[in-house]
Amino acid sequence: MNKKIINKYTSDNQASNLPDYQQCYQHFKWPSVTTQLNIAYQAIDSHLNTSNENKIALRWLGKQNQCVDFTYRDLAEQTSRFASVLNTLGLESGSRIFSLAGRLPLLYIAALGTLKAGCVFTPLFSAFGPEPIRSRMEIGEANVLVTTMSLYRKKVAKWWQELPHLKAILLIDGAGVLDDGCYALSKLMENANAGLPCVKTSPDDMALLHFTSGTTGKPKGVVHVHQAVVAHKSSAYYALDLHATDIYWCTADPGWVTGTTYGIIAPLCLGATMIVDEAEFEVERWYQILDQQQVNVWYSAPTAIRMLMKAGNEIRTKYDLSHLRFIASVGEPLNPEAVVWSERVLGLPFHDNWWQTETGAIMIANYASMPIKPGAMGLPLPGIEAGIVKRTNKESEQATLEVLSEANQIGELALKQGWPSMFRGYLHQNEKYQHCFTQGWYLSGDLAYRDEQGYYWFVGRADDLIKSSGHLIGPFEVESALMEHEDVIEVGVIGIPDDIAGEVVKAYVTLKSGVIPSEQLQKQLKGFARKKLGAAVAPKEIVFRQNLPKTRSGKIMRRLLKARELGLPQGDISTLESDEQ
Ligand code: ATP
Ligand code: MG
Repeated sequence: MNKKIINKYTSDNQASNLPDYQQCYQHFKWPSVTTQLNIAYQAIDSHLNTSNENKIALRWLGKQNQCVDFTYRDLAEQTSRFASVLNTLGLESGSRIFSLAGRLPLLYIAALGTLKAGCVFTPLFSAFGPEPIRSRMEIGEANVLVTTMSLYRKKVAKWWQELPHLKAILLIDGAGVLDDGCYALSKLMENANAGLPCVKTSPDDMALLHFTSGTTGKPKGVVHVHQAVVAHKSSAYYALDLHATDIYWCTADPGWVTGTTYGIIAPLCLGATMIVDEAEFEVERWYQILDQQQVNVWYSAPTAIRMLMKAGNEIRTKYDLSHLRFIASVGEPLNPEAVVWSERVLGLPFHDNWWQTETGAIMIANYASMPIKPGAMGLPLPGIEAGIVKRTNKESEQATLEVLSEANQIGELALKQGWPSMFRGYLHQNEKYQHCFTQGWYLSGDLAYRDEQGYYWFVGRADDLIKSSGHLIGPFEVESALMEHEDVIEVGVIGIPDDIAGEVVKAYVTLKSGVIPSEQLQKQLKGFARKKLGAAVAPKEIVFRQNLPKTRSGKIMRRLLKARELGLPQGDISTLESDEQ
């Protein structure tokens, strides 16, 4: 494995003012929050009557190249109006407000306005079909849906009246004669109270309900409380090096946990200016935004990074990226190749970090003030105790844990229970929730190891581990090795049954544009992988695919590659983005 260390600031970008990792880690204590706490207050109203009040909080870039700015004062007023609309409709604290919309300003206002009203916010990804929308709204007992006219007509109109808890549909662009129970949101907001204060929620009140990505199975409803904001804010400061003076762009859609936590809440808590782009990914557009908006801190994901790599390096030379100071990635393993590429082509290395919907905030990161190791997820954040553990007694009710204290041992990545953004439940699945905890540790379901310097390295999801002739093989290692080949852009690796070895490694490979798949290339890739990984770990079979099956949040669905390979049922595919089979 490539353990080359890259130092953070290779160009003369403005240096970070973050404290040293070790100092921070040792002295960090979570503040004890016992009285009221509201995420929306931290994100918005706390900036009123400060120097941030008239600063741009949100710059919205529309598909037609519109640009609309909202100051912290504007957002305070708009979110109060939204909260007041909920009050007028008779919704009490704790009501569940769902959203289904593209990246429109009112989506952001609705998210924060919901929290201001003491209600629970649940975002749904706008590209979901009617069935995944309905089932999530049923499970989540939605009381209100905020959406657009066209999404309502296409995906919701036919069935929403059958949902017993759903009281109202708020249409962002609603106008004219509307169905019963549907309201034109802007109109309601015009007459609403722009000065409504935040509801005084307690730190343990439910604030967010997020559905997981569905990469390993049926998506779970994950419950978070207002106290999570303590971790949202501090993790963005430490892991993203985000400061009030920054122009920040998180490319994740608010339909997923990253897009809400780090695409709405955390940057506003820190008083930064955040960019929101309504349009979908497009290489030139993205470079243009980084250049024209003078983005300093950029938080993206491996799939997008791989697409930038695929587009070639020449395109990048047309743009001035000198304002970038810190770039980070999350959501999937970030192949070392992508880190090396970004340092060479963008001038800065991507800093990988790790977390889950369940952890509510970044837990492990290539922290800004330390050297990064390409391929490693980094060190635990201040306030987070991570460990590598092995479950023993799995079958019995009293599962026990062995904490693997020596370096380089592969086990399950676990976190000591009790950080502020730890999830407080899987909705309607209490037993499943309880199962995640043993002896004070939260068990993540991901496999990893910790090296001698304390850096955590991702191995694979526990379900994806391949057992071949007595070796335990993590798909990430194999995928990363193949990614180093100049013709390869993306790889998904699975284990397939084999009479002799138990399982053997099979790789699905997407080639760079312009590269023609051939038997010769297949052979060459096998040889390339054998050289890097050894014969026991290298794939025995390599096939080429135009696209790999991915969740709509951009994660490779290895379970689907496997199900298709073995002719097994595909399981829940509600988050699958269409792909060629
Ligand atoms: P589901 O739980 O429904 O199967 P999911 O686990 O993909 O979906 P998320 O909570 O969005 O849903 O994703 C968290 C997972 O993403 C982690 O458990 C891990 O497997 C993967 N992940 C996130 N960041 C990283 C990273 N930096 N490196 C490797 N894997 C990562
Ligand atoms: Mg998961």
